[in-house]
Amino acid sequence: MGDLRERFIMCCQNTFSCFKERETVPPSDIKKYDIEVIPNVHTEPPARVIPPIPAEKPKCVYLALYDYMARTDDDLSFHAGDKLEPINKSEDWWYVRGITGISANKQGYVPANYVVPVKSLDAEPWYFPETKRLDAEKMLLSDENQNGSFLIRNCESQTGELSLSVLDNSKVKHYKIKKLDNGGYFLSKSQNFSTLRELVEHYTNNDDGLYIHLREPCKKTIAPETNGLSYNTVDQWEIPRTSVKLLRKLGAGQFGEVFEGIWNDTTAVAVKTLKPGTMDAKDFLQEAQIMKRLRHPKLIQLYAVCTMEEPIYIITELMSNGSLLEYLKKDRGACLRLPTQVELGSQVAAGMAYLELQNYIHRDLAARNVLVGENNVCKVADFGLARVFQKDTGENVYEAKEGTKFPVKWTAPEAMHENKFTIKSDVWSFGILLYEIVTFGQMPYPTLTNYQVVQKLQTGYRMSCPLSCPKYLYEIMCDCWREVPADRPTFETLQWELEDFFEPDVSSYDDASRY
Ligand code: AMP
Repeated sequence: MGDLRERFIMCCQNTFSCFKERETVPPSDIKKYDIEVIPNVHTEPPARVIPPIPAEKPKCVYLALYDYMARTDDDLSFHAGDKLEPINKSEDWWYVRGITGISANKQGYVPANYVVPVKSLDAEPWYFPETKRLDAEKMLLSDENQNGSFLIRNCESQTGELSLSVLDNSKVKHYKIKKLDNGGYFLSKSQNFSTLRELVEHYTNNDDGLYIHLREPCKKTIAPETNGLSYNTVDQWEIPRTSVKLLRKLGAGQFGEVFEGIWNDTTAVAVKTLKPGTMDAKDFLQEAQIMKRLRHPKLIQLYAVCTMEEPIYIITELMSNGSLLEYLKKDRGACLRLPTQVELGSQVAAGMAYLELQNYIHRDLAARNVLVGENNVCKVADFGLARVFQKDTGENVYEAKEGTKFPVKWTAPEAMHENKFTIKSDVWSFGILLYEIVTFGQMPYPTLTNYQVVQKLQTGYRMSCPLSCPKYLYEIMCDCWREVPADRPTFETLQWELEDFFEPDVSSYDDASRY
């Protein structure tokens, strides 16, 4: 019996040493491996119980949609197509074990938005649910794709419906995928399919009404932004200053300089350095707690801060084309056409619609505070910062004095006169931003001083329609400049008005049942 007991204890010790070897497993995961401790009492030995062999849990396998390069020693690098098994799923970063590819048999953290369940619609290479019609066109027309490249996306105009977008001789055609009551799908009534995959397979082998065979799925080249820099910075986002290297000055604003930098020698970031004394670190951190939670593809993500000493660093995602104002001025119409201008406006409206939903106010919306990345992607920056700056500078920033840096020409009358900053005063500023977009970055009210603007607005004066601005777009601006804030549109409305600006009606869809 004693022998049996010793063997059991040895077995427990082995189990513990086995945990030691798995030190990389996060502590939260260890509690899953419950160990029963034998009480050290000298009683009659219990009847021998053979522990049941635990049933092997079916593996939950995930597929990587994009490449990821480890940013910290705790991360796991992988390539698109690798298979991974989650060990611990926290919100934005998962601890996983690699199954295939370069990550096989290794463990580490990965961004949760880079992986999807292997046997799911999300894992289909042609499934791009959140892609908008205009983005689908941009992606399919890029050099990486060839004739017959395609994707399936959610239809913007009809919630719950799907669309097929196909590149056909340098033009993108869109087809409505209709749903059957029993859950099937069809493009043309004569051919029903029980799954989207069957539909894709059919039109890969037959053109039927499409006039073109589906070939390669559209390339998924642009990886989404990760949520935060790494697993560790999600909670500890005050990071050591030494982990950030400043590489190149990108610009200078009213409150300090902005640099391109590199974090942990691995990750490109933008670093905003604040002039000493610009703001109180405590105030800033309080506001930054809120700013950090605001996450949307059309908002610049706040990654981390260094506030322990001056100058304070604000570390955000890096945007390759700088501010929208510079971008508009640089091109002055050489590359930008009206559809792109409207699209730039709709992206800003989308970011602001998210802030509106979160009951957050920007307070300084203008083209200089919107940043542009690749492919005309733009994102709203510096939301909420104005509030912190105001507090500390102690200036009465609401006084429309000549010569102050207060953005009089962007500010709604009630914000200027009564200090009433609301999402509706942001809507006013958005109208001015639309003016900047259509005039390629021209100063609003070009012939008026700040003082004259304040005076004239009180008499009901508004800017006239800029040259070459379509009437419908000017009407949207005027809606933003209504005297009574409640009469101004919501950002949600502005977003769809701009997204649907060129959104053709149903007839714009190609018809697959013509044959
Ligand atoms: P700001 O101090 O925010 O007005 O920024 C000054 C300039 O720095 C801007 O006009 C941009 O050209 C540049 N900049 C600011 N933030 C970023 C960023 N996240 N990525 C790239 N450039 C930036």
